[in-house]
Amino acid sequence: MSQVLILAQLQDGEPADTTGELLAAAALIGEPAAVIVIDSADAAVDGSRIAAALGTLGAHTVFIATAANSSSTLITPQVAALQAALAAASAAGSGVDAVILSTDNDSREVAARLAVRVGGALQWDVVGIDATGDSVLVTQQAFGGAFTVRSVAARGIPIISLRPNSVAGSAPAAPGSITAIDISGDTAPSATITATHEKSEATERPSLQTADIVVSGGRGLGSGEQFRLVERLADSLGAAVGASRAAVDAGFVDHNLQVGQTGITVSPNLYIAVGISGAIQHRAGMQGSKTIVAINKDADSPIFDIADFGVVGDLFTVVPQLIDAIAARKN
Ligand code: FAD
Repeated sequence: MSQVLILAQLQDGEPADTTGELLAAAALIGEPAAVIVIDSADAAVDGSRIAAALGTLGAHTVFIATAANSSSTLITPQVAALQAALAAASAAGSGVDAVILSTDNDSREVAARLAVRVGGALQWDVVGIDATGDSVLVTQQAFGGAFTVRSVAARGIPIISLRPNSVAGSAPAAPGSITAIDISGDTAPSATITATHEKSEATERPSLQTADIVVSGGRGLGSGEQFRLVERLADSLGAAVGASRAAVDAGFVDHNLQVGQTGITVSPNLYIAVGISGAIQHRAGMQGSKTIVAINKDADSPIFDIADFGVVGDLFTVVPQLIDAIAARKN
């Protein structure tokens, strides 16, 4: 069986939350193998321990590139590592059917650069993966989710950017055998991170891009202070908070919470839209959600066209009752 490489990002020295899903997606079409980059100066990061964790999540092979300054170098170490892993797999005689990455900003850039380097077929915003004969069949949503497209790459290895929460289940545990790869000879120009500034306050909430549940608020909230109602609902569900552009433009919340065409694309299992009309540009960023719930006082709002459940009512009446009902269920 051919290998399917995934890029495992590290979060505080552990495989990031999305890794299990990437390995589960890889297992649908071949033998999952993970690629990671470790900074040689980072003594706290233990490659053997990470490989064991990746094995538990389904990686048969873990390609480890250990490189100086990789944690302070943007993007290129990951590109070089994937390229080196492709070469190592090919030299070992086991083909690679596809490379799968998550859709976070860094991984998207890694995917694009890798596609240029190896002549791969970049497949974007993928929400489903399947094997068809010798090919990899991917499902994508196009034009803001208005069309579902199924395609196979005509040439080049498929390099797939997978939206979070697209593949259910997990891959069976595997050995997680380590193969060291060398990226020291990579001469591509690279950018160095000299300082990092946290733009928004630290939050205990899950990441908007990968959250299982997202609660978003729109202009209907009326003010930043009243937007706290959306945050209370999100916290009662352990959800991430999102917003429409109108809410962001009005200054209710920070720009980095904007969901939509010019914001973040989310695909949670549950998306709750509160006081959001459902303009096409907003839908473009959330239409892939598994279940959509809308709370809006206007029964003709377009958000109801795509909602699985809708409540027509004043959000200031409905949402507090919802928070109370959730609390009652918890107790
Ligand atoms: P509105 O359209 O004003 O809707 C507010 C809703 O709240 C209404 O449906 C109303 O019935 C409801 N409401 C009001 N009061 C209450 C109440 N008390 N109880 C219940 N319901 C209530 N938008 C995005 O969201 N994301 C994007 O990325 C994005 N990109 C864009 C890119 C371009 C190029 C352009 C042109 C636009 C873009 N927009 C984007 C803007 C988009 O077109 C809409 O203007 C925006 O989504 C509207 O936000 P909203 O639904 O919060 O506001």
